[in-house]
Amino acid sequence: MNATIPPGKGLDTPVQYIKGIGPRRAAALTERGLRTVRDMLFYFPYDYLDVSKVEAVGNLHRHIDSGEWITVIGTVRTFDLIGRPPRHRFVVILEDETGTVPLVFFQSVNFFKKAFTPGEVIAVSGRITEFKRRPQIIHPSIDRLATDGNEEGDLKGFLHTGGLVPKYGSSQGLKEVNLHLKGLRRVMKSIVDDYAGAVEEHLPEEIRDRYDFPDLPDALRMVHFPSERTALDRSRRRLKFDELFSMQLLLALQRRKIKSDRPGITFNVESTLARRLVDALPFSLTPAQRRVIREIAEDMKTSRPMNRLLQGDVGSGKTIVALIAMLISVDNGYQAAFMAPTEILAEQHWRTIGNFLKEIPISVRLLVGNQPARLRQDILDEIRRGSAQITIGTHALIQEDVEFARLGLVVIDEQHRFGVSQRVALRLKGGDGGEAPVQPDVLIMTATPIPRTLSLTLYGDLDVSTIDMLPSGRQAVKTIVKPEHQRGSVYGFLREEVRRGRQAYIVYPLVEESEKLDLKAATEGYELLRKDVFPELSIGLVHGRMPAEEKDRIMTRFKEGDVSILVATTVIEVGIDVPNATVMVIEHAERFGLSQLHQLRGRVGRGADQSTCILLAPGWMAKLSRTGGAGHLPGVNDEDAAKAERRLRTMVETTDGFKIAEIDLELRGPGDFFGTRQSGLPFLQIANLLTDQEILALARREAFALVDTDPHLRLSGHASLRRYVRSMMESALLLAETG
Ligand code: ADP
Ligand code: MG
Repeated sequence: MNATIPPGKGLDTPVQYIKGIGPRRAAALTERGLRTVRDMLFYFPYDYLDVSKVEAVGNLHRHIDSGEWITVIGTVRTFDLIGRPPRHRFVVILEDETGTVPLVFFQSVNFFKKAFTPGEVIAVSGRITEFKRRPQIIHPSIDRLATDGNEEGDLKGFLHTGGLVPKYGSSQGLKEVNLHLKGLRRVMKSIVDDYAGAVEEHLPEEIRDRYDFPDLPDALRMVHFPSERTALDRSRRRLKFDELFSMQLLLALQRRKIKSDRPGITFNVESTLARRLVDALPFSLTPAQRRVIREIAEDMKTSRPMNRLLQGDVGSGKTIVALIAMLISVDNGYQAAFMAPTEILAEQHWRTIGNFLKEIPISVRLLVGNQPARLRQDILDEIRRGSAQITIGTHALIQEDVEFARLGLVVIDEQHRFGVSQRVALRLKGGDGGEAPVQPDVLIMTATPIPRTLSLTLYGDLDVSTIDMLPSGRQAVKTIVKPEHQRGSVYGFLREEVRRGRQAYIVYPLVEESEKLDLKAATEGYELLRKDVFPELSIGLVHGRMPAEEKDRIMTRFKEGDVSILVATTVIEVGIDVPNATVMVIEHAERFGLSQLHQLRGRVGRGADQSTCILLAPGWMAKLSRTGGAGHLPGVNDEDAAKAERRLRTMVETTDGFKIAEIDLELRGPGDFFGTRQSGLPFLQIANLLTDQEILALARREAFALVDTDPHLRLSGHASLRRYVRSMMESALLLAETG
């Protein structure tokens, strides 16, 4: 025990200086991201072995072959090497008041030979087996106990036995330096004993009291070396709360800052332009579209800058909603910027929006990378002078040197790939455009519905509007999984649809994340289809590497119906809108992620006709999705197969984007769901976004309430919280810069 370390001190000590850790072990730990004492303290066990059942030797016969781990405390009587190599074994006779039991070691015999002293008190844990009708324990875990000086005193020294024993995640590197299982546990024990007391409490007392949380040092001690289950559960709960609370606190502070930093624009939302557009639409807006437009207008009316997420499934009609918001901005004499994730999409939006605005005389400009320099210069000038009223482009629109005269609204499409930190950056840039002392409103649109859990977590700084219905008259897309060898019948179906005047997509898969191979698969597929399968039809090919003009030309021909079948890589994943296309064929569908499949399927079913999505998969996979479960197929990783099968089955069973997103999240975990790097997700050690929703809700409520009453964390009870937040922000910034 080292009681002399003052609060906060010593925690940044590099692991190398911890006793029992030399340079080699330090290197292996660092490799795992464990650099300092603090890192080690927050490296939590992933599970516990329950060896808390202590039994007298005389009762051990009851546990023979039960599989349960039992702890026995006793005195070492004798030990002996029995038999001869290679079949020799080392046997220790352990005794308590009720009898004796042999402990048997087959391995490391030479080590164990020297490990015991007659008369010493030890605790052992293991499964009880039988030998010659008597209980024995093979290779138990062992602790050498001490009695605290006097005979009646508590026994001390339990580490691997006699309680809830922590299990720590290991790695090959750690194994090589004997830091797995017991080795790591031993090192952890000494770190926790020496340093847990030095960790500064950052959670305000009030909150700790409200939830009956242990203080941080106790919670750390308990989570590593629990005395019993209830205390462990309380500590885990507190530590989970900590992680989620800090995350929510960042969001709350961020939200507060946005709302109070600089004033936003007070728009008059009675827009004549918007009215004219709505009156001229060939359809009427859905009730959900009307509701979200009202929510957006409420935001635009106030002087606080809007910071709103608009989510809605593919085809739910977000574009028109965004356009209405942009017209409000234009009607008030401000410019609007619309950012799409790719140039293809920017161009498509530009065309769609231009179409909607045919009868409305406002200037809509497209700014993308591949424009001739002269044109680009002209457009930049118009943006600077303010005569470009709506500008559509990619992120380059705000990232580069583009100056807006009076930017009133920024719309960001398909932004689910962006995290908290990127959003902060975007807002800074957006707000700095021009001299305007005001902040533009921001509307972020996403077609990947975000499960509620994650939307709170990642978008806690945003207000959320949801379009939860599709325009009426749409029929759900029929989805089927077909084995690859039945491709012939799929082509027959395609031919039939084309004969009826419909169009189709055939999407070629990701091949090992390699663009080059993707391209090859798609190009070869295209040649085959064009020459051998559908020589009589007009077939087009688009892929990401094509010159923009050519891509454009083919997309336009497809849109106009001159091309019947469009062969593509995943470039068409988002946003392409051709209502006459009714068939989507996806090759090697088992390789795609769920959201991706859902996005692709969203390209059809956009008109009034029944559409079909055909997922081609290897025969065994298609069979699995019929029999419902991963069998044991040669050469197939069961877990991957099961997941792929679940994805295909989900696609067949539902078209609900929210449900699909939930399942996707469940299959991939939050890190992968967004891509850890892009998500800005802080590293969650112990909290789980899926299973800890209840704690997340509490943490969120507390964090937002706290920022409401003490926006700058200046109250005396919040001093250490403020220090904590500052250090968290520093590491978040670091992450944002390096990520
Ligand atoms: P997304 O939400 O996927 O971006 P879009 O905005 O591209 O969807 O809309 C999909 C299609 O539905 C477009 O062709 C659009 O013109 C059309 N649309 C939008 N709103 C309605 C509506 N209320 N009724 C009928 N069609 C609509
Ligand atoms: Mg869209």
